[in-house]
Formats: sequence, C-alpha cells, structure tokens
Amino acid sequence: MVSGRGMLLSGAAAVLASGCQRLPDVTYETEHAEIGTFFDAPLCAGNLAHIDEMIEDLGVALDSPLDLKHRIYWGVEGVADFCDFDEFGFEADGCHTSRADRSFVTLSSLVHELVHAVGQRVATMDPFFEEGAAYALPGHIILDPEHLGLLPSTFVGRSYEEYLDKDAASAVATHFVRFLIEEHGLAPLNELRRRAHYGSSRDRILEVFDDIYGMSLADLETSWSLRAPLAYNTIIEHPLPVEQWDGDALTVQRTLACDDVATWGPLESGPVSTDFHEQ
Ligand SMILES: [Zn+2]
Repeated sequence: MVSGRGMLLSGAAAVLASGCQRLPDVTYETEHAEIGTFFDAPLCAGNLAHIDEMIEDLGVALDSPLDLKHRIYWGVEGVADFCDFDEFGFEADGCHTSRADRSFVTLSSLVHELVHAVGQRVATMDPFFEEGAAYALPGHIILDPEHLGLLPSTFVGRSYEEYLDKDAASAVATHFVRFLIEEHGLAPLNELRRRAHYGSSRDRILEVFDDIYGMSLADLETSWSLRAPLAYNTIIEHPLPVEQWDGDALTVQRTLACDDVATWGPLESGPVSTDFHEQ
C-alpha cells in the first residue's frame, strides 16, 4: 500500500532494502505458509486459518502449485524497510520478491501480496497484468469514469519503473483485468502468465494476447470502454462475519481468545467506536 495515495502498490520489482533491520524469525507454520512477525503480540488463529484459505483459493484460481510453503513476514510497522519504493516517491506497506520468494505484508496488503506470491510460482506477468490481477482478484473495484478514456494497451510492455510512474496505470489495470476475468474467466489470464511473462517485448505480449483471447487487445479495450460496469465485487473473499444488522448498527461478537479460529489479531489500528451520525 502506498501511504498518502490510498492504494495498494507493490510488486515484483521490489528489492530488499533491509539495510540495518534484521528479518524476524519464523514463528508460525501452517499448511501453506511459514510466518515471521515484526511485532511481539501473537498472531491469532483466525489470521493463520485465513492465510491458508487464501493461498488454497488462489492456487486453484491461478492454476499454481501448492507444494512449497510461502514465506511471509507480517508487520504493522517495519515492512516498508524491506520494500524499496523510495525512488518512486512513496512508502509501500507490502511487497513480494519473486527472487527470494518472500512476502512482506500488513493486514491490508496481505491478499494483494499473496496473489503475487502464488502467481509468481508460475511466472511474473507484465506489470500491467501482474498488478491488475493482484488488485482485481481480492478487491471491490470502482473505476473513476475519467479513466474510461484511457487505453489499457498504452500501459502494456513497460518496465516496472515505467509502469509505476503513471498514477492512472494501476486503476486502469485493476478494472481492465477484472473485466477480462468477467468476460473470459481466469484460464486465458493464466495462459498469458505462462506465455508472456515480465520482460517479454510489447509486441510479443500483444501477439500472445491476440492468440489466447482470439481478438486483439485493441478490440477488447474498445469493448471494455463501451460495456464495462464501473464497479465490480471481489472474486476472492473471506469476509468477517457480521451477526446482526438492525438497520442502524452492526453487531459482531467474538471470543477474544487468540487460539480461537474465529479470532483475528493484531489489527493495524485499535478497535474503533464510530458514531456515523456525527460524520
Ligand atoms: Zn502489487
């Protein structure tokens, strides 16, 4: 996530920039993950179960092997030190490094980075599709109508540095990739990952795209700008349950026992009491 810009932004280009800070020890092991935390409080059973559910769902969705555990370093603070986005003028709150096969996450960046982590067990895609997929699968997406005038094809075939340099790229990538999934399913996108990975030339990516989808990216982006709804619901989701909504207030009851699989924690900020009538 990018502080101050209200969006997640991270990816394969992240470079370990730990400098003086040591990696925490791995203190949790689940079926699909090894996890170290940057905080002293325990990571509760709900989070651990959630990680395994997400990795399994993503493995199926992205047709990616689940035989090796994912190494995850989880923080509330401190994650940015391992995600070097300083040259782009922002501080990330999550990143995945495919070279070291490690993810640095906070609660809010967790699923985004897991999409990278699971997908990149196969290959890293062109940044437009890689970041688009990482936002499109877990996200509730609303496109600013002004972005409908932008053409996705102008963002394809860029280096990560060039891609991240354009503020609108992420918004367009997320919405367009979600449109692709809605119209054609995940199989063509998974094939694109296998056949036109990061570093392929723009011409190669467009040629492979045409071959897989049976139409050009130019034709599909015309269809997108004419027909795509502005908003999509998430595809991959494990929402926290809400017991009661009486039209005025939400009620959530949880046992605060960290080893209870229904208990999540720690949160990134403390429990909040909000009176919406005052806002
Ligand atoms: Zn990312």
